[in-house]
Amino acid sequence: MTNLTETPLPRRSFLRGHFLNALKTEQVKQQGHNAIRPPWVDLATFSEKCTACSQCVVACEMGILQKGADGYPEVNFSLGRKECSFCQACVNMCEVDLFRPTSEAAWQHKVEIQSSCLTQFSVECRSCEDNCEMRAIRFKREFGRVATPIVNLESCNGCGACLSVCPTQSIQIMYL
Ligand code: SF4
Ligand code: SF4
Ligand code: SF4
Repeated sequence: MTNLTETPLPRRSFLRGHFLNALKTEQVKQQGHNAIRPPWVDLATFSEKCTACSQCVVACEMGILQKGADGYPEVNFSLGRKECSFCQACVNMCEVDLFRPTSEAAWQHKVEIQSSCLTQFSVECRSCEDNCEMRAIRFKREFGRVATPIVNLESCNGCGACLSVCPTQSIQIMYL
């Protein structure tokens, strides 16, 4: 039987892989590792300006910020309510000028759906789509197959809401 998802994938994967790898390199270049800092943090000056006071960690209404291994705040989408509400409490609590304007995108990271997704095993599941307010996850219908999810990288705001609802932990953050 023909695997209908394989036809357009090589070029798309190639392009996406290069796009994400380029961005990943930038993230690592700026902070040395892949920790997700609080939303709107200016990564170019964060390590120099942040005092590691943890006031943003305390302020987070969703409970997703933690003091990282390096002492500085980072996002952990497996904590608290497991997604960012973009409430800006962290930004407002910080006494240091290290955030970008909140009119800009909060983050550059995106998500990627792995091959362990239930739909790859002909099991219907739409949990990620149901939890994405940005409607960044859509399902591609193909004759004779269970519809499979596709992430619109331009619409994804990195909120993390799709991560914890996946029954097979098949959605991963792509660190940019
Ligand atoms: S914007 Fe709000 S929910 Fe998101 S990390 Fe900051 S304090 Fe937490
Ligand atoms: S409140 Fe500001 S200075 Fe304090 S840990 Fe958070 S980002 Fe750093
Ligand atoms: S991270 Fe948020 S915006 Fe992006 S796909 Fe998941 S739920 Fe949608």
